[in-house]
Amino acid sequence: MSLWQQLPISHRYAELPQSFYTRVMPTPVDNPHWVTWNAPLAASFGLSETPDDLWLQIFSDGEVPDYFQPLAMKYAGHQFGVYNPALGDGRGLLFGAIADQQGRWFDVHLKGAGLTPYSRMGDGRAVLRSTIREYLCSEAMAALGNQTTRALGMMVSDTPVYRERVEQGALLIRLAETHIRFGHFEHFFYTGQHDDLRLLADKVIAWHFPELEPSSESPREPVYLAMFREVVKRTAEMIAFWQAYGFAHGVMNTDNMSILGQTFDYGPFAFLDDYDPHFICNHSDYQGRYAFDMQPGIGLWNLTALAKALTPLVDKAELEVVLQTYSVQLNLEYSRLLRSKLGLQQRRDEDSQLCDEMFRLMADNRVDYTLFFRRLSSLDHQPLETVTTLFENQDAAKQWLQQYLARCEQESDTVEQRCQSMRQVNPKYILRNYLAQQVIDAAEQGDFQPLEQLLTVLRAPYDEQPMYESYAEQPPAWGKCLEISCSS
Ligand code: AMP
Ligand code: MG
Repeated sequence: MSLWQQLPISHRYAELPQSFYTRVMPTPVDNPHWVTWNAPLAASFGLSETPDDLWLQIFSDGEVPDYFQPLAMKYAGHQFGVYNPALGDGRGLLFGAIADQQGRWFDVHLKGAGLTPYSRMGDGRAVLRSTIREYLCSEAMAALGNQTTRALGMMVSDTPVYRERVEQGALLIRLAETHIRFGHFEHFFYTGQHDDLRLLADKVIAWHFPELEPSSESPREPVYLAMFREVVKRTAEMIAFWQAYGFAHGVMNTDNMSILGQTFDYGPFAFLDDYDPHFICNHSDYQGRYAFDMQPGIGLWNLTALAKALTPLVDKAELEVVLQTYSVQLNLEYSRLLRSKLGLQQRRDEDSQLCDEMFRLMADNRVDYTLFFRRLSSLDHQPLETVTTLFENQDAAKQWLQQYLARCEQESDTVEQRCQSMRQVNPKYILRNYLAQQVIDAAEQGDFQPLEQLLTVLRAPYDEQPMYESYAEQPPAWGKCLEISCSS
């Protein structure tokens, strides 16, 4: 008997009306087999350390035990600023929700499970390379401390998948507190299904924001506004985190925005290597709509699209007032993160000038973003040159460092205390694109050992891991110009 059978399983989404989804069975693949399994995450659900044959059976014969009720969610969304009503789970299926040992519910979503009514021109599959990237990055993000979807395990098959070339197909078990996106709300708004819109909001509140539920028979409208306020806050915090950690999402379409403000839908993302504020990680993003420094503004654009979808439930003027809090919250959270990255506990007026100058110098000198902050965090036991050598213009870097160190003297902690706390927020190890690429190259040859090794490193991003020093180095020249597109 499978351990899955003994888990608390909920079908709360399947219990919604038919307009929310279509029930779909997975399409079998040839010879599915496990290539990685997230044992620590599995343990938090009481699942075993090794993966379960259950999923291999499901994808071998397409038969699903009755404690799962697979379905494809219906949603819509703005893609690159253009509304697309025809979206939905085109290659992923929601099997139900399971509870972890603390009683928190997580959707079980199988990505790459086959065709659905929302597949449009697609084949319902996911390729190995993009599945590996999502697996690695969601686990890396979680370890960095960002709210994110998770990856429980990955299977591959012998079913070929056709992209620009023939590739190996893969299946990802994604766990997330929700798979409800901004685009779910947009779907019901634009199709005029406003009762369903209200029901969706009620369910999001009941499942995810129970603290907002009114205790008496008070009118619902303030609750919907409170829900929106919470989404705004969480989205602002998520994007502040991205900006502080140098993460570019790549496809911030509204169908890729979680209603819980969690990093979601890992496609052509990248962590910055050299600091370039205008960096575009998605090779298909010709206009740079989702460039690194555009992300805060796009967050507001997306929240404005969500606000529009909520107008049947909440007064427009009230939504606009809440929208205005977005930038304030993002800036507050971003400067909090930046101050902690710099080891500054007190807030001083001159700090913004110090930061502006730092970013200007980093951009002019194309300084490695992660290495800069980590080396700044190591000045308790390493010389200033470890920082200045990252800059072409070393004199300018020295001048800035002197200002910075003078500013640090105004703090009450010792150098050791400051650097120690900085090392807890400035990662040594991030998922650089070239590291992911090396793992993918090996995996495409059937070797998944490098994947496991990289995962081990990324699970402790703030620790010194002397055995894995090479993973913290700057990328080789080839590794800085990898082209990652939407093709996945
Ligand atoms: P994404 O760019 O991954 O966020 O996907 C955008 C939309 O296209 C979603 O509705 C996906 O379900 C759908 N989609 C992406 N890739 C495929 C595929 N290979 N087959 C079917 N649908 C897909
Ligand atoms: Mg998507």
